[in-house]
Order: sequence, then structure tokens, then C-alpha cells
Amino acid sequence: MIKKVRSHIVQNEPLLFERSSPGKKAYQLPELDVPEVNLASELGEENVRAEIPGFPEVSEVEVIRHFTRLSTWNYAIDLGLYPLGSCTMKYNPRVNEHVARLEGLAWAHPYQPEELSQGVLRVMWDLESFLCEICGMDAVTLQPAAGAHGELTGILAVRSYLESQGDARKVILAPDSAHGTNPATAQMCGYEVREIPSNERGLIDLEVLDKAVDDSVAALMVTNPNTVGIFEEDISKAADLLHARGAQLYMDGANMNALVGWARPGDFGVDVMHLNLHKTFSTPHGGGGPGAGPVAVKAHLEPFLPKPRVVDTGGNGYKLDYDRPQSIGRVRAFYGNFGVLVRALSYILAHGGEGLRNATADAVLNANYIRQGLADRYHLPYQGRSMHEVVFSDQKQTKQGIKTGDIAKRLIDYGFHPYTVSFPLIVHGALMIEPTETEGKGELDLFIDAMRSIADEVESAPEMVKNAPHSTRTRRVNETLAARNPIVRWEPAVEAEAEKPAAD
Ligand SMILES: *Cc1c(COP(=O)(O)O)cnc(C)c1O
Repeated sequence: MIKKVRSHIVQNEPLLFERSSPGKKAYQLPELDVPEVNLASELGEENVRAEIPGFPEVSEVEVIRHFTRLSTWNYAIDLGLYPLGSCTMKYNPRVNEHVARLEGLAWAHPYQPEELSQGVLRVMWDLESFLCEICGMDAVTLQPAAGAHGELTGILAVRSYLESQGDARKVILAPDSAHGTNPATAQMCGYEVREIPSNERGLIDLEVLDKAVDDSVAALMVTNPNTVGIFEEDISKAADLLHARGAQLYMDGANMNALVGWARPGDFGVDVMHLNLHKTFSTPHGGGGPGAGPVAVKAHLEPFLPKPRVVDTGGNGYKLDYDRPQSIGRVRAFYGNFGVLVRALSYILAHGGEGLRNATADAVLNANYIRQGLADRYHLPYQGRSMHEVVFSDQKQTKQGIKTGDIAKRLIDYGFHPYTVSFPLIVHGALMIEPTETEGKGELDLFIDAMRSIADEVESAPEMVKNAPHSTRTRRVNETLAARNPIVRWEPAVEAEAEKPAAD
């Protein structure tokens, strides 16, 4: 008998359109007591429609119950473990939400004059200062809206810096374990991307790097700890090698959850890096945002950061400095996703230095607890010490024809969100698991239990795993077709019939 943690909630909820029946309304308005406007003559006949085909007609209680039921289908960090690796899906303390909703912060307007914005400028100034301290860097911009956007900002700053030195270069190096956004960023900034192979331990190979860095190389982009969850132990040597040849070291800081309070990228030679506040600093994320991807730089790159910059005039309050001739310009309207910045500052202040150190230690402990709990059942491609996430492969399960994606689907039946499937690409059939620090031993034990139980099922009932999930309303969707031909809008049957392309 399998030990189900929690079964997925399924209710046979129809679409609102399917509930519709003519004449039902979710509102009641009083008699019109002002002259009626003739929309057709005001807006033009062609802009006004008499009816919306298939528009659902439902009562108020039907609307409320429909959406409330749908909301129970969501899987969220507030329901249970969300072990996506790389993404750091940790619990977001409610105090952050409270602070972000404080009237003076929530209602601050970006066009408010500086003298009425001292509080919000201080929030930005303080956050920049804390992030500088945490990263061991000299300056931070808060403008970029996400990690990938931070990469773009950081690499544009590198490009402007090198051009200002009269040494524009053409190539960006990235290890084969890199997140896809790294090469994409480099390409968008006009660079040629060269991939460097990791060694058999999943790490940067200094000999390979030595051969790869010539005077056409602008920068190396590296994630540390890397995407197999292992700290790049030669990072300082790599930095020295790059610097000696006029190149820069960019660090993808998506994995800072493993370093905060213990190691500072600025101290191991990084010139520029981004942070994902929505990962490491606990703003809720998923479903596309909002996020924030501050970029931290060493002093030589500071003049190139986006403008305006917040400055502390010392005695005369905070100001926005637009007079930045070498700046790469704006990368975002106004000053970035301010609500996210407030949450991050609240998180940092609520924890304090010691608290942040503990969070990091717990994140690393939890990942290693899971590693220990599963290492006899799942193949570990790299033996190096895990930091905040652990990467297994499906090598032991493929003998039964079961792949990482099948195991992930089965995990849904056990009431867990799947781990990250098939990333990083250098691990064939990867299972990437990041528990984060916010899980207690109880939840981790349930997860380990579920994963071990699935490993048993792979032996005893492989077909059942192959056809999972069994407890959800929708079973397996055709993911390739869904990605290529996303249909995200319901269409009334009449129209859909008429527009349907001929079958092929
Ligand atoms: C999440 C992530 C990114 C991209 O960050 P976004 O905030 O999603 O744009 C880049 N690199 C790594 C390693 C990541 O995990």
C-alpha cells in the first residue's frame, strides 16, 4: 500500500460557459436615472457590438463558487513542498506582505517629487546597501525586473565598460551547465557565445578555460554554486585568469540561497552579478512574476549602471541622479518593481545577519538531507558536495523504461509539486531537487518517502508510473503540441467550428 501524503484535489468543475443559461445575471442595477447614451452614434456603428457570442450568463453565487473551486486546484508553496531546483521556491513570510501593503509604500507614486519620496528612496538606498554588503560588491541597481533582465543589464554594462577602454570584445564564454538565459543574454547583447565543457566532476576546468580565454573574450558567465548544485571551487583562479587577460567575470546569482551570509562573490573575484529577489529574498513568484533582478557590480562598472541612481546627499536627504553620461540608460520604467524591493528589504531586516546565515545553512542542510535519503535509490551523476540543491539522474529507472518526467508526474499523485525535470542539460534525465530552508524535517521525510515509494513502483508497477498522474482532472497533455500551439482562450462552439483549420 502506498503512503499517500495528500491526494490532488479533483472536482468536476465545468467552465462558466458550460454553466451559462440565458437571462441569469450576477448583478442588479437600479433604474437608469440619467439620459441613455447611444453608443453606436457616439463610437461609430462598427465599434459597437450588439452581443458577445457565447458570453456566459451566470448568477453571482455561481461565479464565486466557480472561482473558489478552481482556486483549490492550484498547487502553491502555501500548500506544501515545492521542490523546483534552480528556482528557489521558498515560503514567503507574511510580514513581507504586510510591509509591502503599508499605505505610504503601496500608494507611493513614481511622479511624486523627491522631497515627498524620501521614505521610498531610503527603502531603495538601504536595500542597495544591504545587497552590496551581502554580495561583497560596490554598487547595485534595482531596476531590472527579473534575473534574465539583470543579465542583460550586467552584460550591457560590461560591453560599455570594455568599449570605454577601447577594447570592445566579441565573445562570451558560458559553461555547458549554464541556464539557457546566459547564452541568450550574451547573444542579445551582440556577442558570439562559446560553450566550455565542464569536467567529469561537473565543474569548470581551468585548463579548458585557459585555452578558451584569448583577447576576444569579454566575459565568462558562470552560475555559482553551479546548476548541478556544486560550488565552483576554482572560481578565484578562474577570476584571476580572466582578469589577467582583460576579461570580466559575470556571476549568475540565482543560487545565492546557498551563499548568503557565508561567502561573497565580490570576495572571490566576481565583477558583476545579478540576484533574483524573487528567489533568494523570498518574494512570491511563479506564473510569470513580478520579480526583480538587481545587478551588483565592482566600482569600475558602476558608471555604466542604469540611470537614475539613488544617492545619499548626506544631510540633504536622498536624491535621484540622472547626470550619468556613461550609463547604459534605462532598462525599466521608473525604478524597478518597487513592491518586490520592499518585500526583499523586509525579509532581510526581519532575519538580520544571523538569521540570513541560518537560512543559508538550513537550505544546504535540507538539500543534503534529501540527498542522503535518496542516494541509494536514485543515481547521483556528480559526487561533489551538494549545496542548496541536489541533482539526480533517472539512470536506474530507465532500465524499466521510466524517465525523469514520468517520476515527476507520479509525484503529483503523492501531493507534491514536481521537481525540475531534465535540467541541467549536462545531466541526462536530470531530477533537480531544491527543498529550500523553509521546509521542516516532517515535510522532507514525506517527500523522501514518496520518492522512495515511486522508486519501488518503478520496479513493481512500471506501467502505473508511466501513465501517471492518476489523481488529476487532466492526465498527460501533449506538451510539445501545447508549447507550439498554445490555446489559452475559450471560444464559443459556433466560432470554433467555423475557424477550425482543415484536418491534416
Ligand atoms: C531563474 C534563473 C535565471 C533566470 O531568472 P529569472 O528571474 O527567471 O529571469 C537565470 N539563471 C538561473 C541559474 C536561474 O535559476
